[in-house]
Amino acid sequence: MNPSPRLLLTIDYESWLAPSRRYDFLSPEKRFALDEGFAWNVIDPILERLKDNKASFYIVGELVEWYPDLPQKIFDAGHEVGFHCQVHRPLTVVADVEQDLQASAGWRKKYKVHGYRAPMINTVEGVYPLLEQNGFTYSSSLYAPAGTLLQKGKIWEAPVSTYPLLGKPSTFHAPRRMDVPLVLGGEFPYGSSFISGMFPKTVFKIIEKEFKAGLSPVIFLHPYEIVSPTRWPARFARDLLANPLLYPFTFNKSAFLDDLLRNFPISTVEGYIRETTQ
Ligand SMILES: [Zn+2]
Repeated sequence: MNPSPRLLLTIDYESWLAPSRRYDFLSPEKRFALDEGFAWNVIDPILERLKDNKASFYIVGELVEWYPDLPQKIFDAGHEVGFHCQVHRPLTVVADVEQDLQASAGWRKKYKVHGYRAPMINTVEGVYPLLEQNGFTYSSSLYAPAGTLLQKGKIWEAPVSTYPLLGKPSTFHAPRRMDVPLVLGGEFPYGSSFISGMFPKTVFKIIEKEFKAGLSPVIFLHPYEIVSPTRWPARFARDLLANPLLYPFTFNKSAFLDDLLRNFPISTVEGYIRETTQ
């Protein structure tokens, strides 16, 4: 069945320090101290902002260790609890993903996690069989034109949306991440919060257009883009100097989010896949 178009709103729920690779090799205790309670303190304002709209939250498992009530809060508000990774870093080696899945098995089972979002939307084909073995039903870890729903073994792949300017590609092998070949291939990755930070009006218009074509776009935001951390973006200044491309991730997108909520029906990815594939 092809459900009516809706916006598949996803939130990669991670610490404000996740975009920079500078923190990857700090001890978990240091990362916890640096987060300063941020990921816990902003969950209520974010849930309130969403009102009755149900989104997919892909949680970094480390946050569940720091703030054990976090997934329950999201779950109780009727949202989908998904898995982003246990510790946020590039995860393109199958053995590393396996370790991450083992470390997160307990809480994933408790909250009936079925969806996987690879960190940095960057994965490899070898991850799909692992997801299947670990109780997942779907992944959203590639970029591809809206309306693309792929089958990778028994795992559905619902990619983050791009707008194809040069015609739709015919093959979709992982990785399909936001890089120069993707953009040179004519795909505008508007589902990324990097792009909605730079061009919110253009992204809004593209979503309108996709809806008219009967498509359901997948887009993502981060908690620190909905509620800006204190001393922001100053506390991230060193990372911005090292990588100015991170700048759009520091923009506050709450007005953009409100616009989306006002104008489009919203759904979780899991709900959408269930309706589409039954
Ligand atoms: Zn992330």
